[in-house]
Amino acid sequence: IKSQPAHAEAQKSIAGVPGGIERTFIAVKPDGTQRFLIGEIIKRFETKGYKLVAIKAIVPSRTLAEKHYEDLKGRPFFNGLVKYMTSGAAPVIAMVWEGKDVIRQGRRLIGATNPLEAQPGTIRGDFCISVGRNIIHGSDSFESAEKEIGLWFGKSEVIEWEFGNAEWVTA
Ligand code: ADP
Repeated sequence: IKSQPAHAEAQKSIAGVPGGIERTFIAVKPDGTQRFLIGEIIKRFETKGYKLVAIKAIVPSRTLAEKHYEDLKGRPFFNGLVKYMTSGAAPVIAMVWEGKDVIRQGRRLIGATNPLEAQPGTIRGDFCISVGRNIIHGSDSFESAEKEIGLWFGKSEVIEWEFGNAEWVTA
């Protein structure tokens, strides 16, 4: 039936397949950019075996930052958080990373929200000391990844490409 592939395409999520080849939204926050940690952060995802499918430097609008963090509205640090993300003192480096279980694995690479609890070896555990300046964001669930990729990127900005060495990363 001709309509089937079109239907399947419409069902396809921007965040991929939960528990399979997923996509997640990762952002270097302005403090990470100021502290020259962009390369280090990209390196950790790249060398783990993940594929960069979208990237841009952006100073988010207040509207974008508030939507991104809408679940935290009402928390005492919300206004400060939005100000920190939107100041323009340095851009946010917005990215989409793709690969097997990348949503959960990305959170493991990043480490706990509070750097005091983030294990050494994780990005936050190795590079920061304050919860208010914790250098990186990563989607915390499939639903968040869907929402956040859609908020920060247009469909045409997310590039589909194949690893030449895919069989050496995923069996
Ligand atoms: P995560 O970024 O690990 O998903 P949350 O969604 O709980 O964590 O919080 C979002 C961001 O809000 C944190 O990364 C941090 O920048 C900021 N934040 C969280 N808790 C605090 C706090 N107590 N004081 C200041 N900023 C905070």
